[in-house]
Amino acid sequence: MTTYTCKTKDELEQMYNLLSSHYEQLRQQNLKLNMARGKPSVSQLDMVGDLLKVLVNSEDCISEGVDSRNYGELAGLKCARELWADILGCRAQQVLVGGPSSLNLMHGVIARAYTHGLKDSPRPWCREETVKFLCPSPGYDRHFRITESFGATLITVPMTSEGPDMDMVEQLVQDPAVKGIWCVPKFSNPDGVIYSEETIRRFANLKPAAPDFAIMWDNAYCVHEFEGPYEQFPDILQLCAEAGHPDMVYEFASSSKITYPGAGISAMACSEDNLKYIMDLMSVQLICYDKINQLRHVRYLKDKAHTLELMKRHAKILAPKFHVVLDALQREIAPCGFANWNEPHGGYFVSLNTMPGTAKRALELCSQAGVVMTAAGSTFPYGIDPADSNIRIAPSFPPVEELEKAMDVLCTSLKMAAIEKLLNR
Ligand code: PLP
Repeated sequence: MTTYTCKTKDELEQMYNLLSSHYEQLRQQNLKLNMARGKPSVSQLDMVGDLLKVLVNSEDCISEGVDSRNYGELAGLKCARELWADILGCRAQQVLVGGPSSLNLMHGVIARAYTHGLKDSPRPWCREETVKFLCPSPGYDRHFRITESFGATLITVPMTSEGPDMDMVEQLVQDPAVKGIWCVPKFSNPDGVIYSEETIRRFANLKPAAPDFAIMWDNAYCVHEFEGPYEQFPDILQLCAEAGHPDMVYEFASSSKITYPGAGISAMACSEDNLKYIMDLMSVQLICYDKINQLRHVRYLKDKAHTLELMKRHAKILAPKFHVVLDALQREIAPCGFANWNEPHGGYFVSLNTMPGTAKRALELCSQAGVVMTAAGSTFPYGIDPADSNIRIAPSFPPVEELEKAMDVLCTSLKMAAIEKLLNR
């Protein structure tokens, strides 16, 4: 086995010609495949169809004396708050259950920080000369875009196999202009990294200069193992409280990848003081979220143990798809020696680092052959990957046969882009 960098120019030329003719064959198939966004597949959505059947008549809509069809309960139904507290390992009084999108709750926290300030803000963030936000990268593009849209300066913090580089985080938070950090602590998007206990402990013990520093702890994949046993995860709220900073963290989750994305329920957990402050401001814009959907979810998911059973059924559908991706990379790309990737046990992504300077070109080739991928660079602040190397693969949506074709296109494109680079084309 000889890696690409050990090949002679003639060998590379020959390989490129073979790859080009294979690519041309693929292109002529007029494929329309998509590995861009982490969406559950149709079979996963069908699998949870009974969710639609649990509330049949008016009496079903009453929960502990509260009529879920009417106004009230801005923090969510008690049983829904208890369900999320069970899943996240915190207390129900710390939980607000929202509408279908946790991203919307995150946007709300940042938007209110700008317009009104957070509970301990000396002034609203819009009155600060500079607001800086830490973005562990590769990371989730929509997080970065929230803070970018308000004009924050985004600072890249490299990801390690244990979470964000904590030496750097501890250093950067000494700047009072640094107001927060985005985190996906379990099965990070896209690397699939589970933050180590040490990383979590260091987060809880951060001593930021900004009194209103916010850890945006997006636990989007808290029960999303597709392989191996469920991994218990510490309660960051409790750890921050023990370290003397109960108000420093906002945790988020949703049922988007448990039931229906865009039609599930979301949760935000924070200190009771933070929750009171937020709800006072929220009550100006909203009387309550959709409690019928909250009740539907509680009746269907029941509790954490029952939710984990459902997640095992999702895993049965998801695991073979991840294997198609990982097997193709192992078979086609590993021998070429120019790329590395993660092998996650949960979450929705495979994160691939290809030969620096070739990710954009590889995805351009994919797109010309009918395979849509997440845009190169989007896993970094401002959509710019300085190394032009990271590619996020989302295997969940296409059926296995389509994934196999899409991976053929991706692997061919990666190799062509790498050879073009080595030949200075
Ligand atoms: N957070 C992360 C890390 C995600 O990957 C996603 C979706 O891919 C979301 C949040 C979106 O969540 P929701 O549907 O609850 O808005």
